[in-house]
Order: sequence, then C-alpha cells, then structure tokens
Amino acid sequence: MHRRTSARSKRRSQSVPGPEQQKSQDMNSKTNADCCADGHEGPALKLADALARILAEVRPVDGSETLAVRSALGRVLYADVVSRINVPSHTNSAMDGYALVGAELAGDGETRLEVIGTSAAGRPFAGAVAAAQCVRIMTGAPMPPGADTVVMQENVTRDGDTAIVGAGQKPGQHVRQAGEDIAAGSVALRAGTRLMPAEIGILGSLGVSEVSVRRRPRIAFFSTGDELRSVGEPLAEGQIYDSNRYTIFGMLKRLGVEALDMGVIRDDRDAVEQAFAKAADAADAIVTSGGVSVGDADYVAETLQRTGTVGFWKVAMKPGRPLAFGRIGDALFFGLPGNPNSVMATFYQLVQPALQALAGIPDPAPPLTMPAVSASALRKKPGRREFQRGVLSRADDGRFIVHKTGHQGSGVLSSMAAANCFIVLPEDSGPVSEGDEVTVQPFAAFV
Ligand code: AMP
Ligand code: MG
Repeated sequence: MHRRTSARSKRRSQSVPGPEQQKSQDMNSKTNADCCADGHEGPALKLADALARILAEVRPVDGSETLAVRSALGRVLYADVVSRINVPSHTNSAMDGYALVGAELAGDGETRLEVIGTSAAGRPFAGAVAAAQCVRIMTGAPMPPGADTVVMQENVTRDGDTAIVGAGQKPGQHVRQAGEDIAAGSVALRAGTRLMPAEIGILGSLGVSEVSVRRRPRIAFFSTGDELRSVGEPLAEGQIYDSNRYTIFGMLKRLGVEALDMGVIRDDRDAVEQAFAKAADAADAIVTSGGVSVGDADYVAETLQRTGTVGFWKVAMKPGRPLAFGRIGDALFFGLPGNPNSVMATFYQLVQPALQALAGIPDPAPPLTMPAVSASALRKKPGRREFQRGVLSRADDGRFIVHKTGHQGSGVLSSMAAANCFIVLPEDSGPVSEGDEVTVQPFAAFV
C-alpha cells in the first residue's frame, strides 16, 4: 500500500512523534489483523474499539496564537495559565451583616457587641476589630483585621451602637478566604481546556488580558454523489439536494474548528482522487459523505486504499456502517456514509472526539448519558449499537421518559431535527418494549 505525501502536507503541522513510516505500518497491521485490508468482508468493529483506534492515531495540531480573552471564546488553551494573584484577592464577607471575633460568641445566648464602623465592597474599614466589638460589613467587603466571623444581618438587632447577635451562630462562618477560589501561583486553567464562558470569566478574574490558544484545526469536507445538487441548481429526475454539507458544516462550526467546504464531488475515480489530494494539502483532517459502500459508484474507500492508508471501514453501529477511517498524507480521513442520519450519528460518536483531540483537548469527555423509561416500543436486532432518535422529557411522576421520533430510517433527517437525544441501544440488545429502561444521550452533550 503506498501513500501520497506532498511537500506541503509535510510542512504542515501535525506533531506526530516517531517516523511517519512507523505510524503507517501500525495502522496497516491493525487493519490486517482485525478487519481485512479490502474491508469488503470480515467482522465489523465495535464502536468503542473503533473510537479507541481513531484516538490512538490523533495528535494535536501544532502552532498557537495569542488572542484577547474575549476573542479566545471557544478556543483551546495552548499552555497552563498560572495565576499571579489570589482570587479572591482579600478575605471578605459572603453576606451582608456584622464582622466579629468568633470566640466572642456566646454559644446559646445573645452576644452584645459595640459597632465601631463599616466595611463596604471597595471601601474597607480602616481599623481592627477587638473583643466585644464588631463592624457592619457588606458582601464582598474585606474582613477587618481581628474579625474572623460574619453574622447575617437578619440574625442581629440594633440598639444604637450596640449589635445584639442572636444565638446559634458559628465561629468562622460566612467568610471567603483570600485565594480560596484560585491561589496565587497555582494553575488556574490547564493546557487543553476549551475556553467557554466560565473559563473566560476566570481569565478575567485573574486580570489576564491575552491568552495563548492552539491553532484551530482545518477540516476540509465534501459530499460525493452524482445525484447531488447544490442549493440554487434545478433538480432533474432522480436528483436530490445535498444536505450533508449543511449538517457537517454545522457540526464543525459548533466544534470551533475551521471548516473548508469543497463542494460536491462526482462519483468518478479521478475526481475523487483529485479531491482527496487537494483536501489533504489544505487541511489537517478530511470529512466526506457518501460513496463508502461497495456499490459500483462507491470510490471513496477504494481511493483511500489506493492513495492513503485505511484503518478500518466497518463499524457495528446503526445508522452508520460502513465508515472509512485512515490517512491521506498527514491528514486524517473520515469517510462517512451518505445517509443524512448516518452522517450525524457517526460524526458525533467518532469524528467529534477525534477532532477535539486534534484541536488539543486531551481525553475528550465521553458524551453524557442517562437512564430513561422508553415510552415507545423500539425495533432492534442484536449485533449493532443503535442510535435511535428520541425526545426526552420528564413525566408527571418525576421519571425521565423518552419517545422515539417517528420514522427511524437512516435517510429521514426530520427524525433527527425533531429529537433532543439519541436512544442508545447496545450491541447485544434486542427489541425494547414500552416501559423498559433505556440509555439516552442528550444532544446537549454534543454542542
Ligand atoms: P451512499 O453512501 O453514497 O451510497 O449514499 C447513501 C444514501 O444517502 C443515498 O440515498 C444518497 O442519495 C444519500 N446521500 C448521499 N450523500 C448525500 C448528501 N450529501 N445529502 C443528502 N443525501 C445524500
Ligand atoms: Mg453515493
């Protein structure tokens, strides 16, 4: 099996340790041992094994850039961020109330203290608090020296300059210690963290204005199929509009990677080969749809085999089988099936974690799953792991229930649009009866 490696793709930037050749041999040896080089026969891989193999092939892209914190939203941190300050920077009150010496509190009776001043957020009290004294204090205001406890104002009555503290207060309560959120000198955010609203808030709290983020992976994508037309073109007999380039575009955008749309490629050996070469030169990974079966017009797997390396191309999932994974030059290659629901299911289950790893997120968290009671009977044959489309909701009795969304055919994209979760039926499971417990994966886990 030979590999096409262009000078440009060599220059481009995957930080793969060890010699290229070694890597390609590893991939081939797996292929031969577990699947079969031509992929037309032999057992299908379990989804979990397929994912593990894909992730074993992925190294983060090289390169970083420095961005203003707000512009870094959605990007992946290139290096650890170490805090130069304590957050919070001073020990302060968590409540509006009175700051006092905890040892002064009478365990089960009232405590009478002299109010000697006020500490407000941004305007600390100038003095210290001694025995039998207290300071009126607001939320976020610095604790005056000597005070170690705050009593909420609801538990205090005032008699002129005297504060009468009710029983039942605990020494040390309602105080936020300096550095209790983030201590000076500690790692506030780890390299590989995707910067979401909470993370850019943390960067703000550290007083950081700029941050180093990893280069975004470039992902080329195209559709294959003689029947496909693009929006704006008239449809002749037997033709359909291309929807996969829209769903793939949407999923790539939500992941925060750079998406290069290469259009529709005809079912033609040369056209497919040229598209592969162009995509491999331009991108860190390639995602295609269609043409991975063994039909007469299916050139994707064959071309991958001829010009790149094939990891495997049958996965025991539904919708989704068959699927091609490999490499063209330095670019990772994902050949997804043509059916619109197969595209989305295989992308979310296999491509998305790989692209997260490519973006520099180590060990991307598996999508959240939860149990739910199936409100529908579900057809299922043992063998493949199925991702049926469902609507998860909460029943009046508090249980989570899931209804399937209409026709579950792999071409019926409206069943995906109507859904808010996958109903995940494991390989060995048979049909599901109404009332059975199933596992669901809320779509919120993917975006
Ligand atoms: P294939 O995997 O190429 O055999 O395609 C399987 C099914 O998916 C066929 O019905 C195709 O017409 C359909 N299909 C393939 N590509 C697309 C696309 N980009 N948009 C919508 N449907 C597609
Ligand atoms: Mg096709």
